[in-house]
Amino acid sequence: MNTGPAATNKPAAISAPTSANSAVATAATAIVNIASLVTNDPSLGDGTPLGLIQDAAVVIDGDRVAWVGESRKAPATDNRVDAGGRAVIPGFVDSHSHLVFAGDRTAEFNARMSGRPYEAGGIRTTVAATRAASDADLSANVARYMREALRQGTTTFETKSGYGLTVEDEARALRVAAAHTDEVTYLGAHIVSPDYADDPAGYVALVTGEMLDACAPYARWIDVFCEKGAFDGDQARAILTAGQAKGLHPRVHANQLSYGPGVQLAVELDAASADHCTHLTDADVDALASGDTVATLLPGAEFSTRAEWPNARRLLDAGATVALSTDCNPGSSFTSSVPFCIALAVRDMGMTPDEALWSATAGGAAALRRTDIGRLSPGAYADLALLDAPSHVHLAYRPGVPLVQEVWRRGERVV
Ligand SMILES: [Zn+2]
Repeated sequence: MNTGPAATNKPAAISAPTSANSAVATAATAIVNIASLVTNDPSLGDGTPLGLIQDAAVVIDGDRVAWVGESRKAPATDNRVDAGGRAVIPGFVDSHSHLVFAGDRTAEFNARMSGRPYEAGGIRTTVAATRAASDADLSANVARYMREALRQGTTTFETKSGYGLTVEDEARALRVAAAHTDEVTYLGAHIVSPDYADDPAGYVALVTGEMLDACAPYARWIDVFCEKGAFDGDQARAILTAGQAKGLHPRVHANQLSYGPGVQLAVELDAASADHCTHLTDADVDALASGDTVATLLPGAEFSTRAEWPNARRLLDAGATVALSTDCNPGSSFTSSVPFCIALAVRDMGMTPDEALWSATAGGAAALRRTDIGRLSPGAYADLALLDAPSHVHLAYRPGVPLVQEVWRRGERVV
């Protein structure tokens, strides 16, 4: 692919910076000849939520999008990249992952696929391996899965603690995570630590006290697994409000394995996201539709546990904002692939290809309360994926095919 100035284009005559030197340093790049561009800006293109523009171009200046529109109207720039009639989409925003861990759970998966039901307690296996790992090993693991996700088009990811469950191990997990992403979530309340098996109240006191104090400096978010076998509604409320008092913003693992209070609590506390949302009452759906809490669906978990799919159609029809994310973790969803999740959502959860793409980009951004990512319109970060396909629909139409050909993050081609 040609990244130099194209001979057939006019010389760079516009968007001239103030000096020739800075023109070299900040030279804009136009990606032209894009068959189909998803902007996620409904004021652009076809007026749908995807803001689709056909025969499009994107101009990148520094780390930001400077211009989008029809390719023939693209301003002259120093650098041109010919997309060759391929599609360009915003980079995926994976708003839910658990990447700070050691070991794997191959044996558990193998057993489960032979008929054993998934229970939350499997987390303990990873806790033991994570506690035993060095900082360097944990960091290398995060880097490895982050790179794996990037190759598949993910330009932003959130990740959590939750496999340490001691003050030191949770703070360490967050320190490691914060070296790789700004979207770091304190999940000391993943399960009751095995060390507190006979004293869950004591563990909640730890999570809301000394552990929170040690973890808050590294985190933006606080999360709790509100589920039978993990934390009930009262415990979850105590944990989330303690986090809020320390300046952390809530998100909730809610209504994954059974009906429960998680979704209602998330909306009541203005959590950015209620994640999983597999078992929802009508009241839960109404609450999500009326509040600002995003319903984040994680179909990799249902796939990997052979569980009932979340009903995206029901949420969308009610007016809820839906995000799609991987839940990448070694126990219940060991995939870093957002395209895989898109294919599942379209095939089995009632989403259209357009809705699934939106949820995996703009929806993920909403679940992180971000407006600078998840869209490709002027001012947003130049985070994008170029697909070896003429449109984003191919992500669901051609499941399992590695269609992400190039990834640009903050204006630089990184894949
Ligand atoms: Zn999770």
